[in-house]
Amino acid sequence: MATEQYDVVVAGAGGMGSAALYHLARRGVRVCAVERFGIAHDRGSSHGDTRIIRKAYMEHPDYVPLLHRAYALWEELEAEAAAELFARVGLLVAGDPDSEAMRGQAACYQAHDLPHEQLDAAALAVLSLPAAWRGFYDPLGGFLRVEDCVRRHVALAQKHGAKLYTGEVVLSWQREGEGVVVETTRRRLLTARLVLATGAWAVPELGRLGVAACVVRKVQLWYQGRGVEQYARGAFPCFFIADGERYFYGFPAEEPWGLKLAEHNVSHDPVADPLQLNRALTDGDQTPVRDFLARFFPALQPALSKYAVCMYSLTPDKHFVLDVHPECPAVVLGAGFSGHGFKFAPVVGEILADLALEGATQHPIEFLRLSRFAQRRS
Ligand SMILES: Cc1cc2nc3c(=O)[nH]c(=O)nc-3n(C[C@H](O)[C@H](O)[C@H](O)COP(=O)(O)OP(=O)(O)OC[C@H]3O[C@@H](n4cnc5c(N)ncnc54)[C@H](O)[C@@H]3O)c2cc1C
Repeated sequence: MATEQYDVVVAGAGGMGSAALYHLARRGVRVCAVERFGIAHDRGSSHGDTRIIRKAYMEHPDYVPLLHRAYALWEELEAEAAAELFARVGLLVAGDPDSEAMRGQAACYQAHDLPHEQLDAAALAVLSLPAAWRGFYDPLGGFLRVEDCVRRHVALAQKHGAKLYTGEVVLSWQREGEGVVVETTRRRLLTARLVLATGAWAVPELGRLGVAACVVRKVQLWYQGRGVEQYARGAFPCFFIADGERYFYGFPAEEPWGLKLAEHNVSHDPVADPLQLNRALTDGDQTPVRDFLARFFPALQPALSKYAVCMYSLTPDKHFVLDVHPECPAVVLGAGFSGHGFKFAPVVGEILADLALEGATQHPIEFLRLSRFAQRRS
């Protein structure tokens, strides 16, 4: 078995690993990524055409500084891309003003000076919302073309000299002196630093570190049908709707698949082994979304045109884990992106590169470090 030497090895070249690979390669270090499938594959958490991006962050206002940097990096990444990566179509957030989501959104606008427009139900007539509901229109929102973003990060990383091994699995890693030895299905890698960006496959490692994370199966659905043109790109933005405690989100209709939408927190179908994920559409998969469409999109007669099954890696507080491994300072961990991480991919890549090369980062990530779980347990 061949032995190779690197400054940094990145395990996993999905959403976050591809970004880390690029940020490491552009700093001139000798770096490789090992990816069990291909680039922009459909077995992990970074597929299904689109991901919402937004700056006003109801989940936690501390994400906003990271988003400022992520937006700048997406713009850079897109600059010489052949096709659109970031569709700036705006985002509507709507719901009962007393709901947690709407209160979180309002709190974020209070904490940060971000452009927005407040809307009442009359202004949202196309959606048939309850009269007491309100909306925020976020002109900075939109969507990212998820697979193209992954491909772009990898292509630019390779341009900067990164090596890529696909169809190859990281089997184990262990500390060796100041560095790490990584065994894959094809080779032995001696490296000064290892970045673990293995998505749903990183959840057992989080468990070993005392973080009770879990993987859940999530379904993305696309609909065509009579009335879909009312919700087409140009006429309609991305949307996030809080129906009480049930959150739904979606994307304006585009050809050939139409309107894409999904529920965010209704189903919690656990996945014991990501390799055994049920990728077929099951009987109940459409039920919450069809009910949602019937209530709020009455002009649409939905006909399913496509679906994709994906995984969320949920931490107990639904915030990410970005940190140096507490048992091995040569290992850096980017995991637990809890169903809302993709929009951060370039800044996460930059942070993982900082942590790997400097052991620290200027980015404000204290609220994402592992120590927050230890504090809660004590
Ligand atoms: C249905 C759905 C909708 C979402 N919507 C949004 C949204 O609108 N906006 C948003 O910002 N975020 C969203 N997210 C979240 C976002 O997509 C994820 O947080 C992000 O893609 C996670 O990236 P990752 O790199 O951690 O995982 P992945 O992209 O899955 O990458 C992990 C990679 O590691 C590889 N790997 C694993 N183990 C090994 C090993 N041992 N050896 C080699 N390779 C290995 C895997 O093959 C995989 O390619 C959504 C997620 C889902 C599932």
